[in-house]
Amino acid sequence: MSNGPIYLDYAATTPPDPRVLHVLQDSLGQTGSFANPSSIHAAGRQSAAMVAIARTQVAELLNTRQERLIWTSGATEANNLAIQGVANAREHRGKHLISMATEHKSVVDTFAALEKRGYKVTWLKPDGSGRLLLDSLSQAIRPETQLVSVMHVNNETGVIQDIHKIGMLCRERDVLFHTDAAQSVGRLAIDLAELPVDLLSLTAHKFYGPQGIGALFVADRPAVQLSPIMFGGGQERRLRPGTLPVHLIVGAGAAARIAADEMHENLSHMTAMRDRLWNGISDLDDLIRNGLPVHCYPGILNVSADGVEGESLMLGMEPVCVASGSACNATSGESSYVLRALGRDDLLAQSAVRFSFGRPTTAAEVDTAIDRYRWSVEHLRGIAPAKTGLLLK
Ligand SMILES: *Cc1c(COP(=O)(O)O)cnc(C)c1O
Repeated sequence: MSNGPIYLDYAATTPPDPRVLHVLQDSLGQTGSFANPSSIHAAGRQSAAMVAIARTQVAELLNTRQERLIWTSGATEANNLAIQGVANAREHRGKHLISMATEHKSVVDTFAALEKRGYKVTWLKPDGSGRLLLDSLSQAIRPETQLVSVMHVNNETGVIQDIHKIGMLCRERDVLFHTDAAQSVGRLAIDLAELPVDLLSLTAHKFYGPQGIGALFVADRPAVQLSPIMFGGGQERRLRPGTLPVHLIVGAGAAARIAADEMHENLSHMTAMRDRLWNGISDLDDLIRNGLPVHCYPGILNVSADGVEGESLMLGMEPVCVASGSACNATSGESSYVLRALGRDDLLAQSAVRFSFGRPTTAAEVDTAIDRYRWSVEHLRGIAPAKTGLLLK
């Protein structure tokens, strides 16, 4: 077994691709594109040209035009801008908004803040497999509804929502549709020329780009009105002021181009790694796979083990780095609200382990994860004798 950590937490963040790192390093320093892209001198224009290329690269990944993208610091900020931006711009029309109980914290807490300001939010629950039932969305839409926000791929379970059907329904009912696509951009094919999506959030560090850079796609429709949530210079069509981080943007562009080029082979690799892991543990008793495999992004496998205590399981997994249904919310001491929304009880939610795979993941790493998981579950169920003192501390 390898001594160093084995990283299987690519849903939390991905390391920058070496090719991205190269581009990023090149753009830093005195010989790089450090100049302010808003400056009209030659150096500024050079930076602006680099930003334009990167914007086109991200736009091409999504099959949209580069003018539709607003750079942000990541998906958290893009979600805030989309949700608060629409709520503020359309406040005079109505104060009803719709989202799901299984959204990322950056969406849940943004809506919660709006609730405190007097907005009404309907929180839709998924079915037991994690998917949104269109009927429940249809019933929730009222004349005063302004925005529906439903994520594309769930960060804990990998469950994919049918954003095409959801978007169609929103168009029919004249409601704006936002999707947090932080887990799917660069990983699954997204065609914004075809998809009825008004606003889409992304972040580069989930597809092997640098941390701290993301974007919000804003559809070219008169109905899509946004108010800024920050004020300052006129950058990004006055929707997101602040000096652009050229090196991060250039890195995001490179990451987008690589993701587009290699999407197919990455997806086959994810599927192979996930299936290898599941085949290696699925004969254990009382395992529950969270999320129906046919509706899941293959880079994430989320499994609950009945009768096993989550935190001890995490300790037993070392040196394999995975996320757990309890550690995700370690500070609040609660089990995963996402898994509870799927109908898992507290204990099952706490016993959940999220394995997530990346480009660098090897079969040998997966085999180590299988060994550690099997040993930990069996040991904690009192079946296998303790081989180390790891779990006793
Ligand atoms: C990672 C993630 C975010 C937050 O992205 P940041 O770049 O950290 O702001 C938001 N939503 C989902 C679904 C994510 O996976």
